[in-house]
Order: sequence, then structure tokens, then C-alpha cells
Amino acid sequence: MSWDVLIAGGGNAALCAAIAAAKDGARVLVAEAAPRAWRGGNTRHTRNCRIAHDEGNGILTGPYPVDEFMDDLMRVTKGRTDEELATLTLEKSKELWDFLEDQGVRFQPSLGGTLSLGRTNAFFLGGGRSMLNALYRTAEDAGVEVRYDTRVAALDIEDGFFKGATLERDWQNGGPEREEVTARAFVAAAGGFEANIDWLKEAWGDAAENFLIRGTPYNTGGVLRQLLDAGVQQVGEPDQCHAVAIDGRAPKFDGGIVTRLDCVPFGIVLNAEAQRFYDEGEDFWPKRYAIWGRLVAAQPEQVGHVLIDAKSINLFMPSVFPPERADTIEELAGKIGLDPAATRATVDAFNAACVPGMFDHAAHDDCRTEGLDPPKSHWARPIDTPPFYAYSLRPGITFTYMGVRVNADARMVMEDGSVSPNLFAAGEIMAGNVLGQGYLAGIGMTIGSVFGRIAGERAAAYVSN
Ligand SMILES: Cc1cc2nc3c(=O)[nH]c(=O)nc-3n(C[C@H](O)[C@H](O)[C@H](O)COP(=O)(O)OP(=O)(O)OC[C@H]3O[C@@H](n4cnc5c(N)ncnc54)[C@H](O)[C@@H]3O)c2cc1C
Repeated sequence: MSWDVLIAGGGNAALCAAIAAAKDGARVLVAEAAPRAWRGGNTRHTRNCRIAHDEGNGILTGPYPVDEFMDDLMRVTKGRTDEELATLTLEKSKELWDFLEDQGVRFQPSLGGTLSLGRTNAFFLGGGRSMLNALYRTAEDAGVEVRYDTRVAALDIEDGFFKGATLERDWQNGGPEREEVTARAFVAAAGGFEANIDWLKEAWGDAAENFLIRGTPYNTGGVLRQLLDAGVQQVGEPDQCHAVAIDGRAPKFDGGIVTRLDCVPFGIVLNAEAQRFYDEGEDFWPKRYAIWGRLVAAQPEQVGHVLIDAKSINLFMPSVFPPERADTIEELAGKIGLDPAATRATVDAFNAACVPGMFDHAAHDDCRTEGLDPPKSHWARPIDTPPFYAYSLRPGITFTYMGVRVNADARMVMEDGSVSPNLFAAGEIMAGNVLGQGYLAGIGMTIGSVFGRIAGERAAAYVSN
């Protein structure tokens, strides 16, 4: 069967590309590896998208100019970004509110406890699933054919020119049904490789066995691997990713946002040897939460335990799992598998080092430790008021950044520097062009929507010529 545009993936980037291409007259096939009930990859878990805008609009609480967005991006990436593509992304993000609204997506004011994003980020009414449902409805109305349970298993690429692909249908249920399809253009929107533990191990070693994957199990990087093997230029490093510390009881995949823990600044974090290993109060949590995945990944057994007391239990949005609770530190240690005496000694040393101050969780307060290594710079209060609580922590990988290099047309760049005429990419699979390291809340969806739209438009223009 022959199509104008074949799109691998079924999340935000794929759907934005599909809608843009179909509205420009292309016959589009979307191959989504997941079954219909699990469609939409990591996009299902999202809540918002960061967009530049010159003034508030009643839902967005104030202006967020491109320059400020760029400053924020430069700070988190420490300059590791392709400036041309970053500028393009931020400029085009100004159009996203209207573009997404045209596709049926609706917005709402930011949710409480969401890292203070009401000015900068547009929250989807009903979350990522509602957003996706709107995109799917619009795509299907525009004539896009979507095949679920269908993965792009092999790509036929010659000298940077896409010729066709092998699709595997029902690939999870025994012998897959194979189909060869041809298309005049291909859009890779199949996510990163975060769900491929073996690939993560190449970058992280055996520690990756203990990582939890916050999103879809379907982003295993098969399409990415084939593109790199076919000579597309790699962008980003394999160990760069968005990783946060999440509740250690979260499922291996798809735990989503409700397993994140925001109590670290209010307590102390111990490793499996009952030792502290980092300043829990270094800065406000929204500026620090994304480093804790890596910090926990570097600890023995890739595990941490946050200990707090009754003073702090109501200061943060709780995880979906209740904490362990006990009336003494020793009893709590026993419940979470730490040595009671060692835990007591660590808590005593911390308590003794706390300098009295005016506790204020909304400011860089003067509650800190003195003479302790590592220090706790803010919000340090003795852990002395029962009941005591503990949450276990594991590294939770959100998505990987290594991907394919693209140009401003979302066209893939080959190893020799030439640009493919008909290979396009959008979303996580090319996010590393903009995100060399670090993360800015909501920019994953920005990159996917902006480049999805560009990829769809350019692919449609290519096939109509
Ligand atoms: C818990 C969580 C919360 C998040 N919250 C936010 C947020 O609020 N804002 C934000 O900007 N970002 C957020 N992110 C990041 C965001 O989800 C991603 O940046 C974004 O969804 C990426 O979109 P995408 O279309 O590139 O990938 P995805 O939405 O992951 O879609 C990839 C698709 O490719 C399919 N696929 C994979 N391999 C194949 C194959 N071989 N053939 C066919 N299909 C294939 C998958 O099934 C999937 O449908 C969050 C991520 C997680 C995990």
C-alpha cells in the first residue's frame, strides 16, 4: 500500500504532524505501536505546554516574552542547545495556543502545587489524555488513518532517501502480521529510548536495572536505532535525560505524575547505608527536583529514603502512595530496611547541626545546618516531632534526549552533513537538538508541537511537488 506520509508514533508530535500534513492535502498513515487503550505514549501523562506570549489572557497569568523563555532555556541547558532551532521553537511556541485550540484542545488555569507555572505554561483542560483525544478526533476527521498495535519495525532508506517501511501489526501477540508500505515522506515521532533498559545500560551500566520509567513502555527506540544505523546524524549524549526521584513503590512503567515526591526540601535523604549524600535544601524544589533522579541513581542499589517528621507532613503535595509511619526513628528505620542505629546517628548529627531560624518554605530561609557535610542550606529543622514518616526514592526516567539531528524544516541531517529530502522528525526523538542537558517544565510538549507541525507541513509540501 502506498501513502503520501507515514508517521511512526501516536503521541503529541505524531498527531500534530498528521493533522498539519492532512490539512495540507496529504494522505497520512499513523502507525502507533501501542494498542488503542494505551495510545499516545508519554503525552498521556502531560499536563501542560510552555509557550511564549506577550500578555496574559485570563488563564495565563501574565506575559512570558521569547527573550525570557530563551534566558530560562539557556540557564537550564548551560548553553547546550542549537541556538537556531531553540529560537525557532520559542518563536513558534507563540502560535501554539491558537493552533492547539483549533484542533479542539482546551486550556485551564494551572493546578495548585504545580511548581508555579501559571504564567508560563498552558495547562490542558482534562490533562494530556483529553488533549490527545482532541488531536485524534481532529486527525481522523481530517482523513488520517491510524493503525494501533502497529509498530514500524524496519525502514528502507537509501542514501538518506526514505522509500518505505515494514509495519508489524499485532506484534505483541505471537507472530506479527507484516506489511510493506511505501510512502513519499516519513515522520519519525516515536519517542526516545527510555523504555529500553538494555540501551539505558549502555550509558548507565547495571544501575539502569533499578530505574523506573515514568511513562510508556513502548518508547524503546527502535525507530531511532534504525535511523542512526541508516546514517542519520546523532544529536545529544546517551546519558542525557530528564530524570527525577520518584516514589520507590511506583510501577516499572507508566507510574506517571502521581508518583513524584516533593518532600525532599523538608526532610533529609538517606541512602541504603543510612548516610546523607546531598544538600536537600540547596534551592527551591522546582529548581532542584530534576537533579535528584541522577543523585539517587549514583547511590548504592539506586535507592534513597526521605525522612520527615510531623511538622512537615502537610507542606507538600502527597504522592499517590502513603508514607511509612512510626513513633520512633528506630522503628521507622526498621520498616524501611535501614540499620536503626546508623539511622539514629545520622538523624542525631543532623538535628545537632540545625541552626535555629525562622522557617519559611516560600523563601530561602535561614534554617540551615552548621558544620555538617553535606550541609542543608535552607528549611533545615530538627527531625524530632513524632510521628516520623519515610518515603523511598528511585530514579524515575521521564525521557531520553539523544536523538536525530534535524534542521529548521524538521528534516533529518545525515552524518555527511547533507539534508534528507523526505525524512522528518519531531518530539522526543529530536528533542536533544534543543535540550543538550537540563530541563524546563513544559518544553517537551513545546518541542513536539512546534516540530510536529513543521514536519507535517514540510512533508505535505514535499509530496505535493
Ligand atoms: C509522567 C510524565 C509527565 C510529563 N509531563 C509533561 C508536561 O506536563 N509537559 C511537557 O511538556 N512534557 C511532559 N512530559 C514529557 C512529554 O511527555 C514528552 O516530551 C512528550 O509527550 C513527547 O511527545 P512525543 O510525541 O515525542 O512522544 P510520545 O508522546 O511518547 O509518543 C511516542 C509514541 O511513539 C510510539 N512508538 C514507539 N516506538 C514505535 C514504533 N517502532 N512504531 C510505531 N510507534 C512507536 C509510542 O507508542 C508512542 O505513542 C512528561 C512525561 C512524563 C513521563
